[in-house]
Amino acid sequence: MEDLISNNLPGTRDILPEEIDRWQLVEERARRIFDQYGFTEIRTSIIEPTELFARGIGSDTDIVGKEMYTFIDQSKRSVTLRPEATASVVRAYLQNAMNRGGGITKLYYIGPMFRHEKKQKGRWRQFYQIGAEALGSNHPAVDAEMIEMALGLLHSLGVKAKLLINSVGCGQCRPRYIEMLRAELKVHLADLCEDCRRRAETNSLRVFDCKVESCQPFIEKLPVITENLCTECAEHFSKVQAYLNEAGIVYDVVPRLVRGLDYYIRTAFEIVSGELGAQNALAGGGRYDGLSEVLGGPPVQALGFALGLDRLVMLLPEEQSAKGRRKPELFLAHMGEPAFKKALEIARDLRRQGHSCYLDFAAGTLKSQMRLANKLGAENVLIIGDNELARGIYSIKRLKDSCQWEIGLAEISEYLKSRK
Ligand SMILES: [Zn+2]
Ligand SMILES: [Zn+2]
Repeated sequence: MEDLISNNLPGTRDILPEEIDRWQLVEERARRIFDQYGFTEIRTSIIEPTELFARGIGSDTDIVGKEMYTFIDQSKRSVTLRPEATASVVRAYLQNAMNRGGGITKLYYIGPMFRHEKKQKGRWRQFYQIGAEALGSNHPAVDAEMIEMALGLLHSLGVKAKLLINSVGCGQCRPRYIEMLRAELKVHLADLCEDCRRRAETNSLRVFDCKVESCQPFIEKLPVITENLCTECAEHFSKVQAYLNEAGIVYDVVPRLVRGLDYYIRTAFEIVSGELGAQNALAGGGRYDGLSEVLGGPPVQALGFALGLDRLVMLLPEEQSAKGRRKPELFLAHMGEPAFKKALEIARDLRRQGHSCYLDFAAGTLKSQMRLANKLGAENVLIIGDNELARGIYSIKRLKDSCQWEIGLAEISEYLKSRK
């Protein structure tokens, strides 16, 4: 029999109770901040027709070419677990006619994505992203606002992050630039690595992704897109920067920052952290005005970003990670069956009034129950024994300072509330 309990599938894992508070902290913070910026959540399906991603991401990308979880389902349809969410969000936006009436639509998502990547530390095949998409505007202030929101989330979590931006041009200026790039690459073809030689022909922009040492001197001398933008793109880019300046956001213009996905135009950005070594990208995003048409929709000006949740959680400072944990306000220690029943009743009552209560089902000694209460970090322990039952008066102990006193049932909730 296959061993079902020693390992998850490679690249997948369980997020366990001891880490979940950090995940929830990030998710709650994201929801709050995105809400402040007028974004609402959308939950698209995790499984989609393969064609949506093949077209939306581009069949010559690594994602579509090598990394997708694609299979034929029972209806003989080719389906894929989403490798990213933008194509799905745009599909849902068009399908539900959210573009009707014009104006901007702001959506965000939180959830798992799937890519069959090479095994690498810190890389998961089921990984989690938080992302946002603003559809229906090409105003440069929308670009700046989204960047501000993404940085705001990271800063609120105590994560130090740096912004890199670029403009990757548009359908007018980019083909011209790529021709120029290709001509330049041809001159040095013999000196380039195998990947770069292939890229020079198929997808010249990707040459900038090359990490091979011997290619770098040539890559450094290549013409940059930033100096070859058309008037509209140049103007858009300078306005994005002006809005960022006004928001007091510090950034580096990195002309070699080109996004891996084909549909990106104009603004491209990356948020990096110095604390992760070479693999330091925390978030990436940009404008993708061409995507809707690629999917068969009308032109839609749009921009989005996605943030890797797995890496962000790893980076959270210690003091941030403990904040989300909810400790029981009251631990109910009970001795004997009648006391156990009473404890269940009191807990039920207090929970209805909004309090968090915990009780042990193992019917251990008072000592072992106190030990458990301490381990859980409970704030107070209510002691219920035969004596207390008979009198209707209970002992309560505050664990922080071991202060102990008597309390009536009616006063417990009030006391707990006063401590919140
Ligand atoms: Zn342009
Ligand atoms: Zn190379």
